[in-house]
Amino acid sequence: MTTKAAERDHALADDTPLAATLLELESRGVEAFRTVRAPALEAQQIAREAGDEEAVQRTHLLLADVQMREGRVGEGGRLAHQVRDWAEQHDSPYVLARAHRQLSIFYRLVGDVSDALTHAVQSVAHLTDDVPPKIRARHLMTLAVGLDDSGSPADGDRRYREALKIAEELDDQDFILLILNNMAYSAYEVGDESAARALTDRMRAIMAATGCRFAANLLDTVARVDMMSGRYDAVETALAGVLDGRVVANEADAAAECLLTLAEARRLAGRYADAQVALDRAICECEANGLAGLRARVRQEQAALHAATGDFRAAYEEHLLFHTASSALHSAQRESRARAMQAVFEANEARRASEHFREMAHRDALTGLYNRRYVNERLPALIGEATATRTPISVAIADLDHFKRINDTLSHATGDTVLQHVGALLQEAASGPIIAARMGGEEFLLIFPGIDAVEATRRCELLRLRIRTHGWQPVTGALPVTSSIGVTTAPDGRATVSALLSQADRNLYAAKRAGRDRVVADQA
Ligand code: GH3
Ligand code: MG
Ligand code: MG
Repeated sequence: MTTKAAERDHALADDTPLAATLLELESRGVEAFRTVRAPALEAQQIAREAGDEEAVQRTHLLLADVQMREGRVGEGGRLAHQVRDWAEQHDSPYVLARAHRQLSIFYRLVGDVSDALTHAVQSVAHLTDDVPPKIRARHLMTLAVGLDDSGSPADGDRRYREALKIAEELDDQDFILLILNNMAYSAYEVGDESAARALTDRMRAIMAATGCRFAANLLDTVARVDMMSGRYDAVETALAGVLDGRVVANEADAAAECLLTLAEARRLAGRYADAQVALDRAICECEANGLAGLRARVRQEQAALHAATGDFRAAYEEHLLFHTASSALHSAQRESRARAMQAVFEANEARRASEHFREMAHRDALTGLYNRRYVNERLPALIGEATATRTPISVAIADLDHFKRINDTLSHATGDTVLQHVGALLQEAASGPIIAARMGGEEFLLIFPGIDAVEATRRCELLRLRIRTHGWQPVTGALPVTSSIGVTTAPDGRATVSALLSQADRNLYAAKRAGRDRVVADQA
């Protein structure tokens, strides 16, 4: 056995009391973070006396986690960076994996979702095969959260399910609850009410069976799902404990999140003064804990509240502040997204699942639809088949109407959310052989192999109606979202890529010119 392998065995063995203590502390749930500091400090003392520097570093990470949960985010972040540097210099994969996971938590708390994703990827990539399942499951969940936050909910969902499977095998109810909570929140964010409700129902069933009480972050999810269905009284009931301090906030941002939810529900219920009370408390929480991402969202809600009470000047001013804060966050995010994706491809995990990542190279990161690269590769082959078999092929280009207005009057982030919803509607429309892709910006392509002009036009018309009647209100408020679609057909399959695309584009242009929100097909 090489020295390094021997050290690794040592790091993960639980045959000494110190090692067993560390593993146990590392696998405690977030809800128990207040119980970690004393035993971690004690373990640190023992590790120092034994000259076991790797164990000392692990206790640093445990303490960094506690600091972040307590709201001392910057301090915890600095410590986690130091441990990461140590682990890189001393070639300690386990400590490195743990440090990356902690850094992922840190970057998420400061609102940098791209760096959070980069570190989450590393936190899984550096895990060796001998890592206990309970630790692996926690790292997978951190990765799922990172993917989810950065606009890859489908990839996130896959990791959630892997983590859930491990947690179920271990019969770890607290952790199962936490994973379900994250999945439910993710369903809430994409506006999937029935999936969200199914997940919160499952959470409630576990709570009832085990008799434990929801922690603040779980209550927030349940409340948001209730809010989705307009059950504002239920929101109030769910969050009452958070307001009067009966429920402990177990994450640095949990209390502020709950207060923001409460403010939103009260505004929607028309209780404006009470909404302001909740919002003021949310602002205090954000400023005390350095929560930049959440602070921006609080500004957005403040603008909405001002508008609801008819104070449009204050709403406009607050909206400008929100816009500045969120575009600063957003541009930093875009820059590091490219780096994060690079890391995804380079990580061990990517090599293990190379097929999956080849698939990802063909996918658009924001919507999960196929991307332009895929269309460039696939469309010539499909036209070739159609030509050879003399079967029809149709192609449609859909472009959202007045999309700039959504970006400009709401925010770029809202624009992104709209694109994700539209992506999901296109995905629904793409049944059987139909292919849906995002060509860039707010322009989408549908390929209909074997489908003639009448049927392709009918399907485009259905899609146009689906888009305009989608439940946009929670996303864009009063602003409608509509699309214009140009569709074209090669009845006997004989066409070139450029001829089909430029005809579809001409039809799209005609639809725009004729007043938008319509489908234009080839002239008979
Ligand atoms: P029209 O009805 O004529 O299509 O009007 P439009 O406002 O949609 O005009 P246009 O297609 O020229 O504008 C597209 C806008 O989409 C411009 C750009 O700011 C925005 N956009 C492009 N890519 C993205 C993106 O990834 N996210 C967001 N939020 N906006 C984007
Ligand atoms: Mg447009
Ligand atoms: Mg466009």
